[in-house]
Amino acid sequence: MQGRHFLNIPGPSPIPDRILRAIAMPIIDHRSAAFAELGRTVLEGCKTVFGTTQPVVIYPSSGTGAWEAAIVNTLSPGDTVLMAETGHFATLWKAIAARFGIEVAFIPGDWRRGADPDAIEAHLADDKAHRIKAVMVVHNETSTGATSRIAEIRRAIDAAGHPALFMVDTISSLASVDYRHDEWQVDVTVSGSQKGLMLPPGLSFNAVSQKALAAASSSRMARSYWDWQEMIKLNAGGFFPYTPATNLLYGLREALAMLQEEGLANVFARHRRLADACRAAVQAWGLEVLCEVPAEQSPVLTAVMMPEGHDADRFRRIALERFNISLGSGLGKVAGKVFRIGHLGECNELSLIGALAGVEMGLAAADVPHQRGGVDAAMALLRD
Ligand SMILES: *Cc1c(COP(=O)(O)O)cnc(C)c1O
Repeated sequence: MQGRHFLNIPGPSPIPDRILRAIAMPIIDHRSAAFAELGRTVLEGCKTVFGTTQPVVIYPSSGTGAWEAAIVNTLSPGDTVLMAETGHFATLWKAIAARFGIEVAFIPGDWRRGADPDAIEAHLADDKAHRIKAVMVVHNETSTGATSRIAEIRRAIDAAGHPALFMVDTISSLASVDYRHDEWQVDVTVSGSQKGLMLPPGLSFNAVSQKALAAASSSRMARSYWDWQEMIKLNAGGFFPYTPATNLLYGLREALAMLQEEGLANVFARHRRLADACRAAVQAWGLEVLCEVPAEQSPVLTAVMMPEGHDADRFRRIALERFNISLGSGLGKVAGKVFRIGHLGECNELSLIGALAGVEMGLAAADVPHQRGGVDAAMALLRD
């Protein structure tokens, strides 16, 4: 295959060359003054993207580690939590909680929308004894392309007058979709490096509120690697309790600089615009977007439903073989039924148009019934 591969899965996302070059540096002593400066810069700098002035813990791990960290630092075996079945990732987070002996009240969902604030409020209002210790929601459900309205869920928790912790997974939305840890009074924000942050896999995050720190001091869950206490203590000097992923932190420093140069509001607007153009293409093809609620359609990916009787994975394989483009597979309940177009990481108008051309030609090559003109529809939207 000639030329650059089009990586249009919704994470890991394409990495800007500038970040790759920042990572390609000699390793340094992680107990040195030079490291402490890097540590302090990224630990302070990443607070902006979370919208917080409170501590952000950085782990050398995939996002799944930060999911586990949120649970083991705040909860105790036998606790009850409330979660919403938005898709595959919400289901995986629930399974982790269950393995730690947490009872999960799982509000069922059809995988075509975000979490319902009214349903969350009703569950909390019913819980007069305050047995529910945490509400746990996925901000951007990467398996379906549906976002949940975090500000409204915050209001629902407050309207019910419930003291539960609020924990939000922003692994695929952070630095691409508007998010406000402090303003929305989120207690633990979980995130990861390889999606909106434009970095390789390998870093994960917990932004932690004072209320979450208080919960950590009374939590009875065994933990070691994920323990916030030792992390936060050493982070004060720019250090970590164990070897950090030094070169990924160089990358993080560069990613934060890029986000600052563009301006977060402009970054969010760029993703919304590309997402609108992607959806215009899907509509022109005569195909259906999985997320049924327009206001909840994700700025970072679009999950497209295959026409009845056509296998999404066969289509993806043909698009890859013919046009060197990777598209996201359907996960869990929607395996084989949807494909996902990522528009996150390093992306602009032409990278999207190239990807949409790959999809449109792939649909033809795989004999999937569709109308032509998706790329034209996207270009019409991006022209002005
Ligand atoms: C990718 C993703 C995860 C899992 O992250 P890993 O880095 O693969 O462990 C969890 N939640 C969401 C919303 C994701 O997009």
